[in-house]
Parts: sequence; structure tokens; C-alpha cells
Amino acid sequence: MNAPAKPPVRNYDMNELKKLDMAHHLPAQSDYKLQHELGGSRIITRADGVFITDAEGKSLLDGMAGLWCVNVGYGREELARVAYEQMLELPYYNTFFKTATPPPVKLAAKIAEKMALSNPDLTHVFFNSSGSEANDTIFRLVRYYWELKGEPERTVFISRKNAYHGSTVAGASLGGMTFMHAQGGLPIPGIEHVEQPYHFGEGFGEDEEAFATRVANSIEERILAVGPEKVAAFIGEPVQGAGGVIIPPASYWPKVEAICRKYGILLICDEVICGFGRLGHWFGHQHYGIKPDLIAMAKGMSSGYLPISAVGVSKKIVDVLLEKGGDFVHGYTYSGHPTCAAVSLANIGIMENEGLIERTRDVTGPYLAKALKRLDSHPLVGEARSLGLIGAVEIVSEKGTNKRFKGAEGTAGPIVRDLCIKNGLMVRGIRDSIVMCPPLIITEAEIDQIVDTIEKSLNEAEPVLR
Ligand code: PLP
Repeated sequence: MNAPAKPPVRNYDMNELKKLDMAHHLPAQSDYKLQHELGGSRIITRADGVFITDAEGKSLLDGMAGLWCVNVGYGREELARVAYEQMLELPYYNTFFKTATPPPVKLAAKIAEKMALSNPDLTHVFFNSSGSEANDTIFRLVRYYWELKGEPERTVFISRKNAYHGSTVAGASLGGMTFMHAQGGLPIPGIEHVEQPYHFGEGFGEDEEAFATRVANSIEERILAVGPEKVAAFIGEPVQGAGGVIIPPASYWPKVEAICRKYGILLICDEVICGFGRLGHWFGHQHYGIKPDLIAMAKGMSSGYLPISAVGVSKKIVDVLLEKGGDFVHGYTYSGHPTCAAVSLANIGIMENEGLIERTRDVTGPYLAKALKRLDSHPLVGEARSLGLIGAVEIVSEKGTNKRFKGAEGTAGPIVRDLCIKNGLMVRGIRDSIVMCPPLIITEAEIDQIVDTIEKSLNEAEPVLR
């Protein structure tokens, strides 16, 4: 193949694009009235490394890795070549009715190898296209498992308030975002939401260990209230991403695991953000030393180059499926899509060859944590926290407290985010915090650029907020 590594810069007619955008395009998770008031969506046209370029030709450091996913960075010619070659060989075939193609089989084995680093019992993989679909698969598989086991009354899932598990009906219901539940009569029945391990927001001033025990105990209390014999599983993100980068106290997950084991409840980790290196391990739960029975993964699995997700399934579940036989009547047209799987394999290969997981754990993760410390003395910063290459800065009105700006509660994040974008940094504003999740290829100098730009933007926001 003689294609140039980089296509030439294309000149788009921005006025035309924005007009078409408003006339025909409903972007995801968006306020369409605002889209029109702003004259159309923000349009991104190119990207390379850790930088994205917008329609006006402005370059931004992408502190969000797209949507928490471009772990190997932009512009990887190797991934484009793998997709090109796979598309010519076999662009698509399905995996229905005991069918397979080479890429998903090889990818399943590779993922099993990574899962085995912490739990050799996690042996099998079911493919889907998105994180939401992965959680839908989990929802159906878990209930099916309990039916096969002869405990069909075990149907209830316990999740957490402010969790994010996707946008499908099951995903949004498993999630604990009340503003999502408010649309369309969610959650569906059979899902219980308990306390989240958000120490800064909900345990401020409380001893961290006591807080961890209190929020973990809220799971046990709910199990007992529902009736242990009715509870199928507990689901949680190792670190809550979209909820505002909520990093639990170190002892939280082992406590949760012990509670699940005590009542024979399946433990599910939603690794859609935390998987593939984000916390400095192949999977986020490996940082906490726990052994989930099922894991959902997506995003970093292909670094967002093509849509693919998976569910990691432990042997104890697979054994029941094997023993009982009969179809698991579930699957998607694109389950195990060969081109997506080939790109995912190559993406994992890049992570291995470049040591991106180890680099995140030993070099860039600690560097980000140290760099964020510089913000501790800023008058608007209540807490700056990170783990691996994911972090958050809490914005407060009164130093030394977790008080928010009166009359503007929940808006400080978006205000500072807009200033960051003006200053050349793409981050996300979640309520009263700024969150970041850069590509794992980020350098120390670029981490400094992230922290310096947040500091500058906080300085500019102060007179607006006060
Ligand atoms: N689970 C978690 C933890 C996520 O962060 C997301 C997306 O951000 C999802 C599930 C849903 O993934 P998708 O948007 O690919 O459906």
C-alpha cells in the first residue's frame, strides 16, 4: 500500500458544514436549542499525537483523549493499515450460531491473557460494539446465569448513585445519573442505587477509612433490605469517570469484594474507561487487587479508532453455560467484527511495544499527580486528585472547604472548561470540577501544559465566579 502517512489538509467550507449540522444533525448528549443558538456544533477536523485541530484551525491539547478513549494517541498509521488490509481480506462476517473469524478469536485470547494477570478465572470474552452494549450483555448474561443455576429469583443489580454505565435502556438504568433517569421513565425495575465513594463531595472531613466502610456498608444494607437471595450482582467502575473522576479510598474495593463474596453475589467491574492502561494496569481493578466475575471494556480497547467492546466472563459462569447447554439468545450484528477486532489487537500491540501501561504506572501517572499538587495552593481549588492518567480538580468558593459558589452551583466546571478551551486545552467540566484523561502517550512537558492551562483558566474564572 502506497498511501501517504497523512492525508493532505482538507479545506472545509465551515459555514456550509455548520448550516448542514443544524439542519440535519442531532449530536449525542446535546442541548439542540443551544446547538442552534451557538450557530452549530464545535467541529474537529484533524488530530495528531495528543493534539486536535478545530474547524477554525485552532490546535488544542486533547486532555480528554477524545471521550476517554484515544489511549495510543491520534495518527497511528499502523492501525489504519491493519484496518485497510483486514477490509480487503475479510471486512465483515458475523459470529452468530457458533461462527468465528480469525481476529476476534485472537483478540479474545489476548484479552484473556491480560485478564489472567489478576484473575486466571477470567477466561472468556463476548464481543459487542460499545460500552453500553457490553453492559446490556452483562445484564442479560447475569440473569441467564442465575436462571441456569436454578436461582431465577436472583435478578436485582446493585449499582451506585452517579455511576455511568451507558446510554441504552439497561446502561442508563444501571447508571446512577438522576438527570438521565428523568428522561423516559428510567431506571427499569430491578436496579438499586447505593452510595458512591466520593470522599471530597460526600465525606468531607470524615476519616477516609471510616468513610470507605460507611459507603461499602451501604451495599450490604441494601442487599439485606432487598433480600440476599434476590440479588444477582453488584456493578461499579473502579474509578467513576463521567461521574467526576471519583477515586475511591484504597480499602473500598476490597470491602466491596468481601461483601459480594459473603452473599454469593457476582462482582462486575465496568472497565470501559479504566481498562487498557488508564490506571497504570491493563484493567483498573488490578490496581485495587480484586477479582471481578465479569468486566465490561470498550474505549481504550481500540483507542477509539473503531467501535468495539467486550465482556470478560469468568470460568464459573462459562462452566454453567457449558454444562447446561442451549443458546444464549443474545448477540449483535457486529459482535466480533473482524476489522474492529484486528485494529483492537494492533492497538494492544502498540501498548505492549511502547510500554504504555508501565509508563503510565511508573512515570506519567506519578508525574501528573505531582504536577496537580501545584494547584493545591490555588484559592479556587478544593482538591486536585489523580490516579494513573485520569484526574480531577474540584473548584470551591472557600479554600479549605467543599463549598461551591452560591447561585452558580454546578456551573464552575463548565465555566473553567470553556476558558481552558479558549486557552488551547480540551478538558471536561463536570458540575464543579474539571476532569482530565489524556492519551497515554502524553509527555511530561505536555502534562505541565495541562496543569498550567488549568491554573491560568482558574485565574481568569475567579472574577467571574466571585
Ligand atoms: N461505562 C462507562 C464506565 C463509560 O464511561 C461509558 C462511556 O463513557 C460507557 C459505559 C458507555 O460506553 P459507550 O458510550 O461506548 O456506549
